[in-house]
Amino acid sequence: MLEYRQFYIDGAWVDPAEPNDCTVIDPSTEEPCAVISLGSQADTDAAVAAARRAFPAWAATPVETRIGYVEKVLEIYERRMDEMAEVISLEMGAPIDFSHKEQATAGSDNIADALASARKMSFEKAIDENTPGARILMEPIGVVGMITPWNWPVSQVTLKVFPALIAGCTMVLKPSEFAPLDAVLIAEMIDEAGIPAGVFNLVNGDGAGVGSQLSAHPDVDMISFTGSTRAGKLISKAAAETLKRVSLELGGKGANIIFADADENAVKRGVRKCFNNTGQSCNAPTRMMVEASIYDQAVEIARETAEKTLVGNAHETGRHIGPLVSGIQYDRVQALIQKGIDDGARLVAGGTGRPEGFNRGFYVRPTVFADVTNDMTIAREEIFGPVLSIMKFETEDEAIEIANDTPYGLTNYLQTSDGARRNRMARKLRSGMVEMNYQSRGAGSPFGGVKSSGRAREGGVWGIEEYLEVKSVSDWAAE
Ligand code: NAD
Repeated sequence: MLEYRQFYIDGAWVDPAEPNDCTVIDPSTEEPCAVISLGSQADTDAAVAAARRAFPAWAATPVETRIGYVEKVLEIYERRMDEMAEVISLEMGAPIDFSHKEQATAGSDNIADALASARKMSFEKAIDENTPGARILMEPIGVVGMITPWNWPVSQVTLKVFPALIAGCTMVLKPSEFAPLDAVLIAEMIDEAGIPAGVFNLVNGDGAGVGSQLSAHPDVDMISFTGSTRAGKLISKAAAETLKRVSLELGGKGANIIFADADENAVKRGVRKCFNNTGQSCNAPTRMMVEASIYDQAVEIARETAEKTLVGNAHETGRHIGPLVSGIQYDRVQALIQKGIDDGARLVAGGTGRPEGFNRGFYVRPTVFADVTNDMTIAREEIFGPVLSIMKFETEDEAIEIANDTPYGLTNYLQTSDGARRNRMARKLRSGMVEMNYQSRGAGSPFGGVKSSGRAREGGVWGIEEYLEVKSVSDWAAE
């Protein structure tokens, strides 16, 4: 069993103020696989104080030097990529090949993206050429508390830590207590890269403990949070008293609008995308909306695709999906599948219980519901499992209305070969992102949502600007 009881505070690995062991469970086997400590107020205070002390010097360090440190971390990350893939697979159940190909590489891609974006930015600039004395200085906000979830664990950690480091902030990271191991590796890499003591600190803990302590802390200038809408609200309330900046990346309930003129693989790809990472992605296209003329055919393709989706142990190689992260998530997803059945949706694949051949591990059957209406719980709540809801629409306007009728607004998807329709509809969808014809939005694009999906932007120059304050200065002397 792996033992990571210490925290990384002020450039050293230190014991928690009070021992408080927390066991990490391997979701593939339900066996304990690691032990960490849950921090207390004393640990949070020590880490925040270290970050506060380190802030003036780090903020004054030239941005090129900060970029140089992050380049070193990227080199180390690439060297330790396999280890990263292994711990992610162990802690949250991503199948090992998927963990190598997608989960671990997301971390290095995010670091590389932060570096490329930083090189495009100017942190000091004139407003325009007609007002030479008016100057804008982009300055680091200060000490940042970072709270991350378990589903794309190192992706979410790297989307926060490296843009903030480049911006000149110091920080305390509290990763998910369900998947804390990848963050320990990140701390080791930062230590090896020689980033000065106190700039980056890691304290493990749960939401009620270290999470709430950081949110309410008077010496923390900003909270950057990725996780559930529920916790996002609690954090916003806890942070209100000290008026800190709160940046929230929350849940989603993405629509995937498929027209009859879409590519013939649009439905199959949509199902696979929904089941990707065992359905545990905030931007999963979980509401498949299909034009009436191809609806029956689409339901049949979705059924076949779900039935062909293999489920397996995360430690085995292959293209299967893995277990869910935890028993809590397993119970939640089971209850939501049952709710879909009770509400009258038509179950066309999967259903409750474990897939055949499994009696241990948090495995769920790849599930498809058809004839879902947008008022059903399975169409409104984020399920966070391999569960797809299919709905029918007749017209473009109706598709927009259904897609936007949700508390969330993270990513919507659109499949059609009609370019004018794509552009028209992209403008009308209320979400932070619209992905069309399964084309990537491209490196350097911002990630984030609107409404109950939060309003943060991560990635690209926007992801660095999150950590900056804008200072406006007059009569700036020419240099
Ligand atoms: P969660 O909200 O339960 O936990 C996320 C983190 O917040 C954990 O570190 C947890 O310890 C902490 N936390 C929980 N309650 C807290 C509180 N009251 N105060 C401070 N911290 C608290 O979410 P989860 O179950 O770990 O992750 C799944 C959720 O994350 C899903 O809803 C998913 O959509 C969302 N998510 C969003 C994005 C995005 O970028 N929009 C990305 C990934 C995941």
